[in-house]
Parts: sequence; structure tokens; C-alpha cells
Amino acid sequence: MTRRRFIADTWDRDHNTAALTGDQAAHLARVLRAEPGQTYDLVAGGFLHRAEIAAVLPDRVTFTLHEELEAETALPLHLLLAIFKFDHFEWAVEKATELGVARITPILARRTEKHLAQAAAKRVDRWRRIAIEASKQSRRTSVPEIADPSQLRSTLAAERAPIRVLLSELEQATPLKAALTAPPRGGAISAAAQASASTHKNTGEAVTAVVPESQNLALAIGPEGGWTPEEIDFFTMHAWQPVTLGPRILRAETAAVAAIAITGAIRG
Ligand code: SAH
Repeated sequence: MTRRRFIADTWDRDHNTAALTGDQAAHLARVLRAEPGQTYDLVAGGFLHRAEIAAVLPDRVTFTLHEELEAETALPLHLLLAIFKFDHFEWAVEKATELGVARITPILARRTEKHLAQAAAKRVDRWRRIAIEASKQSRRTSVPEIADPSQLRSTLAAERAPIRVLLSELEQATPLKAALTAPPRGGAISAAAQASASTHKNTGEAVTAVVPESQNLALAIGPEGGWTPEEIDFFTMHAWQPVTLGPRILRAETAAVAAIAITGAIRG
């Protein structure tokens, strides 16, 4: 039987305790009739633990953390998701979470509709709640980070993943699968992988060594109207590789789910 799993609201590393608060605590206390001594699986500090209830209050259930359990890790994938119609966007956040992405940055793209761009900042909390729910439902041990809505320019400037792919419905793009399976050579990927490897030169590793970060991947999906030519230029400047999912124009949320699934199948 699989044990019930919760994601802690607070974590005290020094005392090896963690707590559920608010609604989660109320649910555990009232509905599940939690009592001291019972054990649950609890995610705290990004790791899954066996945890024993130490104290139950109506709005706070405290656990003592026991051994760490074997757990899955997130797909090392940062999704840059242009903001589009909120109901579709929420669906994409939920599915991307189920499929294992590590991080989502909602992008204020040029063709993100004005009223959506203005309302986005107020929606982030809701997207984060959706990510928490989907993480529990899919039994993830980590909740993907949902960044604040961001401008494309600053997000691209900050991106360090050595493999960076831009989902593009342009015909000349490489198929995603080919881009992920091709040995890094020439162009964007190898230059970025070398940059990443060279940051490790103090450790004495050869600069060409494959370092764990070289597995990291960033993937960008455009809004309903697609990226503007100016945005595509930004991507090119930052050495992102345009990739295609085939000859059909997909809705952004379909493209997101398909791309993450393909990435997971190849690199998960
Ligand atoms: N410009 C398009 C719509 C964009 S679809 C139009 O003709 O109306 C929204 C986003 O989904 C795109 O920016 C792209 O990131 C992604 N996308 C859609 N179909 C795709 C495909 N076949 N391959 C790769 N990405 C695709």
C-alpha cells in the first residue's frame, strides 16, 4: 500500500522537523484524524522522508523526520512559457508539473495579450498552487519553481542551461528529437556546453568533460500568435536552437506537453 504523501509547508533543518500548516494541517487533523506517532511520507527541503507526527494542532501538524526515502528527481528542464489565455496556461502548468519539469518561467511575450500581461502578476500564486497540487497528485518529491512573470530579454540573459531550444513552427527548424540526440558539435550547444564545463576548471577537470549541468535544458514555447521576428533575434543572439515538433501548428499548451514528453523520453 502506498503511504499518503504530503509536501511540508515549513522545514526546520536544525531540529530535523517539518510542519504542515493551514488547509493541509486542517485536513490532516480533522479529516484524516492525525495523531502523534502515526507515520507519513513527507517532502521537506526537497527530499522525501518517512516522518512521524510529533504534535497535532488545528492549524499545525509537526513531524519528526526519519530516514530519507528513494525518490525521483525532476527532469532538469526549465520551461519558458509565453503567457497565453489563462485557462490554457493553467492546464499547461499542471501538465508540465506532472511530466516533471524543474522550473517554469511565465514570459511576457510581445504577442501576449495586453490584458493577460497586466493580470499575470496576480495569477502567479494560483499557478504556484496548481503546481503544488499537481506535484502531490503525480507524487513528485519536488514542486517546480514558478518564477514571477518575466521579460524575455532578462530571462534569456540569465539562462545558463547549455542546451537551449526554441520551439518554433518555422519550417527550417531541426526536429526536437534530433536536437536532443545529436552529439553536441558546432554552434549553440557545444559552445554553451564548453562554457559550462570551463566553469569547472578549478576542480582540475578537463574543460571538455561532461559536467552534470550539461544535462540541463531550457525550452521556450511562444504565445498563441507566436514569437515576433525581434524575439526570434534575441533567441538567436543567445544561441538558442530552433526546433520543430512537425508540420502541424500546435496550440502552445499542446506544444509544451509534447516537447516535455519527448524530452523526458530521451533524457529522463
Ligand atoms: N504563429 C502561429 C501560432 C503559434 S503556436 C500561427 O501561425 O498562428 C504557439 C507556439 O507553440 C509557437 O510559438 C511554438 O513555440 C509552439 N509550436 C506550435 N506548433 C509547433 C510546431 N509544429 N513545432 C514547434 N513548435 C510549435
